[in-house]
Amino acid sequence: MTATLERGLHALKEVIDAPIASYFSSCVHCGLCAEACLFYTETGDPRYTPIHKLEPLRRVYEQEYTLLGRLKKGLGLSKPVTDAELDAWQDLVYDSCTMCGRCSLVCPVGNDIVYMVRKLREGMAASGHVPDGIRNATRRTVEIGGPMGLKWPAVANVIRKVEEATGLKVPVDQAGADYLVLLSSMEIVNYPEYIEALAKIFHKAGISFTVASDAFEATNAGIQIGNSDLAKVIVSRIVDAAERLKVKRVLSPECGHAYMAIRWEGPNLIGRPYAFEVVHVLELLDELRGKGMLKMKSKIKDPLILHDPCQIVRRGGVLQAPEPLIQEVAERYIPIADKQKWNWCCGGGGGASAIHTEEAEALRAKAFQVKKRQIESTGVNTMVTFCANCRIVIEEGFDHYQMDTRLLGLTELLAEHLEE
Ligand code: SF4
Ligand code: SF4
Repeated sequence: MTATLERGLHALKEVIDAPIASYFSSCVHCGLCAEACLFYTETGDPRYTPIHKLEPLRRVYEQEYTLLGRLKKGLGLSKPVTDAELDAWQDLVYDSCTMCGRCSLVCPVGNDIVYMVRKLREGMAASGHVPDGIRNATRRTVEIGGPMGLKWPAVANVIRKVEEATGLKVPVDQAGADYLVLLSSMEIVNYPEYIEALAKIFHKAGISFTVASDAFEATNAGIQIGNSDLAKVIVSRIVDAAERLKVKRVLSPECGHAYMAIRWEGPNLIGRPYAFEVVHVLELLDELRGKGMLKMKSKIKDPLILHDPCQIVRRGGVLQAPEPLIQEVAERYIPIADKQKWNWCCGGGGGASAIHTEEAEALRAKAFQVKKRQIESTGVNTMVTFCANCRIVIEEGFDHYQMDTRLLGLTELLAEHLEE
């Protein structure tokens, strides 16, 4: 066994914990998870069965931690996992898994397949088997501050333009504000209208907020790559800024995995509870709606459908807010088939959209067919969502299939129709 060969094997051994052992031992091989995964349903390829994507980890578990597995290994009936195999396996752990959690929802024995994929990614990352797109995004996040390499002067420039467009102040590093607003790089670069919308809504509600110049980025590439130490460094930046500025709440933006990272993973990563509360922007908007502080001056006449981002709705638990909010602004809201926690992923979550190989892009386009069917079955051509990553991936899907569908951001839509 060579030194490099041992690296992958040891890394996988290290990540096997009690939940992983219990999940592998309780799998009844029913195959139900396959039908829940868009990469399987849209390709029919059994390699994309969720539990199969974990095969190297299962083999290490069996060979190292079960009697039968040790016996099989001793008799040469099962081969050790090699680094070459892990390299070739990257497409099954990164390109074809968005960590959307639909498979975990259907597993009859309660296997948390997303957790298992996370653990396998952790082992793959530790032993250097990570697609370049995700590796580079992580490096930029750690060294520069965000996955797209955005530095504060560029963000400050966008904020200045938002102030010019709205005539409203976007405070920076203001201690004692109610909210610390986090943004995703994708919003800053592609959808600065989101920042304008927030400024209008905060102004209308009379709530104070601030952006932190050293912690504006909400996304966490450490979580996507499967590296807890990096994930902790990234979360700690936000925690330090929020506690230094003594804000009451941190506002997670229209970004799926950012919400999972800061809301659900963060306290475990830093090993203590926060001194502030984390809310998703839709939770805040729904709170304002409930208090009668989100009154619309007009409604959209065109029928609207909703795409529920996996990490915010199915996995993040923001289940109740989206529909009442869209109904606030839509004359006709048409519920889509498989909505809410059963919604189908856009196909680019979990870091998959950062992988730009020809194969990964072709697979994403294929997987998008399920979203296309979902949309076309409604006959509606305006869709609303609330995740910047979903927006980019879905717009790419529209472009690929030349679909005549419009995609709008929910926060912007509400701000646009807000009573003066
Ligand atoms: S988390 Fe989503 S993409 Fe990943 S295996 Fe499960 S269903 Fe497929
Ligand atoms: S649904 Fe659960 S029990 Fe069935 S094959 Fe998948 S992981 Fe195993």
